[in-house]
Amino acid sequence: MARPFNFSAGPAALPLEVLEQAAAEMLDWHGSGVSVMEMSHRGRDFMSICEQAEQDLRDLLAVPSAFRILFMQGGGLGQNAIVPMNLMGRSASHTADFVLTGSWSIKSQAEARRYGEAHIAATLKGEHPVRLPPPSSWQLSEKASYVHLCSNETIDGIEFQELPDLRVLGCDAPLVIDCSSHIASRPIDWSRIGLAYAGAQKNIGPAGLTLVIVRDDLLGHALPICPSVFDYRTVADQGSMFNTPPTYAIYMAGLTFQWLKRQSESGLTGLAAIEARNVAKAKLLYDCIDGSRLYRNHVDPSCRSRMNVPFFLADEALTEPFLARAREAGLLQLKGHKSVGGLRASLYNAMPIEGVQALVRHMHAFEAIHA
Ligand SMILES: *Cc1c(COP(=O)(O)O)cnc(C)c1O
Repeated sequence: MARPFNFSAGPAALPLEVLEQAAAEMLDWHGSGVSVMEMSHRGRDFMSICEQAEQDLRDLLAVPSAFRILFMQGGGLGQNAIVPMNLMGRSASHTADFVLTGSWSIKSQAEARRYGEAHIAATLKGEHPVRLPPPSSWQLSEKASYVHLCSNETIDGIEFQELPDLRVLGCDAPLVIDCSSHIASRPIDWSRIGLAYAGAQKNIGPAGLTLVIVRDDLLGHALPICPSVFDYRTVADQGSMFNTPPTYAIYMAGLTFQWLKRQSESGLTGLAAIEARNVAKAKLLYDCIDGSRLYRNHVDPSCRSRMNVPFFLADEALTEPFLARAREAGLLQLKGHKSVGGLRASLYNAMPIEGVQALVRHMHAFEAIHA
């Protein structure tokens, strides 16, 4: 029986091969006689799984040796508190700058206010279509401990196609990015950032694991109130084993990293192959939206998200019928976020081009009936 195509924004679809491998290894991992879920996190078997996952992620994203990879918990929202607790102490005034481009960066700034001065450096200007504020217009603080942005706004469908170079703006604070919903979908320019964090449940694996990739010199500045389990220095020194890590989620993420490394597309491999596929998937859907009179997207092409495509029907009353027919066609979870309504298709790495083709067929057929 064919599985439906799942366009959920998160927790989201995982590659079928990954699920099949996990199923095959569920009761007995590599002859150990036990499931990965039943292993000691300090035993040789799990340590090898964890080290391999870390190395594969480092290879995949070309993470330089000056960065540490931490496996944490608490999700993206947890990092909204954990980042300020670890970094705000780097400036005497406990100031950090925030670029507000949508729902998630707004939440980050609101949480950081509990730990210091969360200065708003830029916001969306209410333009139609929506455009990112150009970095040259950002009002950066004199001595910020860091500058925060969300590199892919999952709800609003806005993505930075290029990260800003803060040094060109005369700012030597590290850039912190929340890349929860597009990590591993495209390369990351590590020369421009100090810290990247991501919940795993969008593009990497099951919920429960949070990735933090942080430059060495940003460790060791935690405020005294920071819990030990959330102190980057402690977590890094203990190889992400200060407390019991989310072992099964790390294992699943590791299977996904191996799957990503195996991908190939038009002579490209690994992350380059996945990126090429993501570009093609997004183009297919945006072209369908732009070429129709029934569907619309409000984001300027310069900053449209490849991963999360929010769109609206010209007649809002058609949203429910659209969703009902989509479900019948095996196209799941296309409802827009409750804060914006409409529709949203998330096209994470695990969504094959065939899924987007099926969605576009459905959209054309629906339009033919309702135009
Ligand atoms: C989903 C998401 C979050 C929230 O992650 P949790 O794991 O629920 O805390 C944060 N930031 C972005 C960009 C997201 O897409």
